[in-house]
Amino acid sequence: MKIDGKCYCGKITYRAEIDPGAVRICHCTDCQRLTGSAFRAVVAAPREGFALLSGQPKIYVKTAESGTRRGHAFCPDCGTPLYSSALEDPPSYTLRLGSIDQRAELPRPRRQIWCRSALPWSMNLAAVEKADRQ
Ligand SMILES: [Zn+2]
Ligand SMILES: [Zn+2]
Repeated sequence: MKIDGKCYCGKITYRAEIDPGAVRICHCTDCQRLTGSAFRAVVAAPREGFALLSGQPKIYVKTAESGTRRGHAFCPDCGTPLYSSALEDPPSYTLRLGSIDQRAELPRPRRQIWCRSALPWSMNLAAVEKADRQ
């Protein structure tokens, strides 16, 4: 599936080709912190279909406990997280779901990981009172 992505301010745009069935959620504490949210939703895009179309993201280099270093790309102006990838010769880009224009068309994530650090309520949003608008 071909998708288009952009940051909130619109300075950075990209396109990619993804497997819509490969959406997943990460509840690790690093993702909570780096997104400023309860969890992160992502989908991987192979390098072949990925292209930055405009703007230059800032790259934050994050070192995992394992020592692996990954580049986390975000818009230097509006701060939107866009993707992460290996620092050199990345085989794929892990796109941040919220930056994808077609995110509402993607099916439910297939898998959620690091559930041991999930915020307990995030495991059942159906129990939270709903309003169509604020
Ligand atoms: Zn931006
Ligand atoms: Zn994570």
